Amino acid sequence: MTQKENLCPHCGKAMEAWDPGPESGWDGEMFICSNNACSYFVNGRKKIADENKVNFAYRYFYNPAKNKGGAVAAWCGGDLSLLKGRCV
Ligand SMILES: [Zn+2]
Repeated sequence: MTQKENLCPHCGKAMEAWDPGPESGWDGEMFICSNNACSYFVNGRKKIADENKVNFAYRYFYNPAKNKGGAVAAWCGGDLSLLKGRCV
């Protein structure tokens, strides 16, 4: 099976394979855009920071098993993050 490259529809960069872990409730491997310059990430973070004054953002992820993409929370430095350490 060849690994198909998954490109982020928001910035066009290759997304990283990401295992969300069993506690997330998601099955199997996902792809996530870890580009800190991605418009999805930057705009989401700015909006949340402006409205809520918290350092919180979303990253775009894609679930190949379900052929479905969406937003995953990236809490910047907080303990609740599924993506701890991935935020700026
Ligand atoms: Zn992106």
